[in-house]
Amino acid sequence: MGYRPQHYKIQELVNPKLLSEFGEAKCWEMLDADLLYMADAIRDKYGAIGVNYGGLVDCGLRDWRNPTTGSSASAHCHGKALDLHILNIPQTVGAYDKVREELLDNAMFLRLCFETGVNWLHIDINNREYRTFSA
Ligand SMILES: [Zn+2]
Repeated sequence: MGYRPQHYKIQELVNPKLLSEFGEAKCWEMLDADLLYMADAIRDKYGAIGVNYGGLVDCGLRDWRNPTTGSSASAHCHGKALDLHILNIPQTVGAYDKVREELLDNAMFLRLCFETGVNWLHIDINNREYRTFSA
């Protein structure tokens, strides 16, 4: 068995259609273990986090066959990205900029890439030259 995060259920991390089609075990396999480990560490640091919550379904693994949400180049379609919503901070770009800066300063999160200018925390582990990008 691969890494199972302490703080997240598979339902929060995978589009529900994928989950019903492939099942839990296969969906865990499709998520990157290092990414899950770091998502746990971010939860430990900042407290409660929502991923797929409040009607959101594409904040984790997305269906790569869906032409609307599934850009096949997106890290979300390869189990290498999560959009985290930290529930204890204001849901503003500024508040998330502060979080991104804190994480960039922490060697534990050296491998993470971020998306800037958004009021959520997109993290991914694509192999990019730069650790931040604008959508
Ligand atoms: Zn994202």
